[in-house]
Amino acid sequence: MIGVPLCLKLRNEQSNRFGEVIMPIQVVRNFWNKRNREPQALLNRLVEINSQSSYVRGVNKIQYLFASQLKHLGFQCLFLNNSVSKSGRLLFARRHCGVKNAPLITLVCHSDTVNTNDQRRRIICETKGSRLIGPGVLDDKSGMVTLLEFLKLYITEDPPQFDLAVVSSPNEEIGSPGFTEIFHNVGRRSFLVIGFEPGTSSGHVISRRNGNRWYKILIKGKGGHAGRFEPGKVNALHELSCKISRLHELNDFKRQMSINLSRVETESRSYNTISDVATAYIDVRFSNLADRAYIHDRLMEVLNSQNVFCPATQMACDATYEIEDDCPPLAQNQKATVYLDMFRESYRDLWKEDIHEVASEGASDLNYFSHQDNVVFDGLGGVGGRMHCVDEWVEVDSISKRARALGAFFKELQFFVHRGGEQYVGKRES
Ligand SMILES: [Zn+2]
Repeated sequence: MIGVPLCLKLRNEQSNRFGEVIMPIQVVRNFWNKRNREPQALLNRLVEINSQSSYVRGVNKIQYLFASQLKHLGFQCLFLNNSVSKSGRLLFARRHCGVKNAPLITLVCHSDTVNTNDQRRRIICETKGSRLIGPGVLDDKSGMVTLLEFLKLYITEDPPQFDLAVVSSPNEEIGSPGFTEIFHNVGRRSFLVIGFEPGTSSGHVISRRNGNRWYKILIKGKGGHAGRFEPGKVNALHELSCKISRLHELNDFKRQMSINLSRVETESRSYNTISDVATAYIDVRFSNLADRAYIHDRLMEVLNSQNVFCPATQMACDATYEIEDDCPPLAQNQKATVYLDMFRESYRDLWKEDIHEVASEGASDLNYFSHQDNVVFDGLGGVGGRMHCVDEWVEVDSISKRARALGAFFKELQFFVHRGGEQYVGKRES
């Protein structure tokens, strides 16, 4: 339950000025409960619609519903089809504040859920005490509602001096294939990107996420019969083995750097064959761009090295690679630390509670929005548990609490940025 204020500011009709009037506690509580029912009703409505990633009709229904709410707040909405894989449509909404060259802030959520089609019949949103339970109620329907609640507060209370963009992915739960390039470009144009994925179970904000790259490595040698001592044969699998043992040495858990060979493919299935070709699938994880570059450079050195030769002709293997998935890390830069401190202060001032910034090992859409010069943080959706299960739950009050804290943060941010604070990050005025 959110702390109930003992007095409300009401308009004094006679003097036409605002004054503080002491209200009976029940009146205030009713007012506050009514305010909380609005997001709860919307959340109920969203959860009752099945929007599992592959159920395109349901995902689009959520996107249209969400867009209709954004249109009421002055956003222009665009729906983008997926040209790469089957999915719902990406929602991109934009609201100009009318100030020339205003900075752009992008807010990100997603409408798809993990629960599978055979669980559709069980989709139901129920209330238990202060919790709402249902598939996707936390991830990420609570995020969509928190985002809307925040916008309602921010846009109606003050004329915003930031341009705003809202991006809602239809297929985040499977990595948003088909849209990551758009995220990358929108991120480049945004000075701040805020993600509405669920917060941690303690309500903390996510300021760092590891990135990943998937390398498909192809080694070409020259095959033949293993029992014949003829010239001109070189085993692609042996070359690959040498390379993998060198790559294995790059694993460094303390540095959050990992190289994982997930599988190897060859055409040969018999003992007595020297492999012509070997394909390796390697997953690489890193926490910052410098480590990504470091791993890539080492990997190129290893690929360019030759270890196995035909004893007769000195023929060696060729190695090539493709990057099949390239998800940058979400790293916390100096600017992000300043903004996160501002948000934490706003939250503490309002709710007398401390929240922190934490790292998450998994990636999200927010990774693709992340650039060296912008600020990205995530986890502003609701607080709850049992994520990705049919009995996923959210603490309903967490939605309003986070929305209001964001509203207070934006007020301070507006003041800070428009006074040129952006350029003086690290020397913030008290
Ligand atoms: Zn999510």
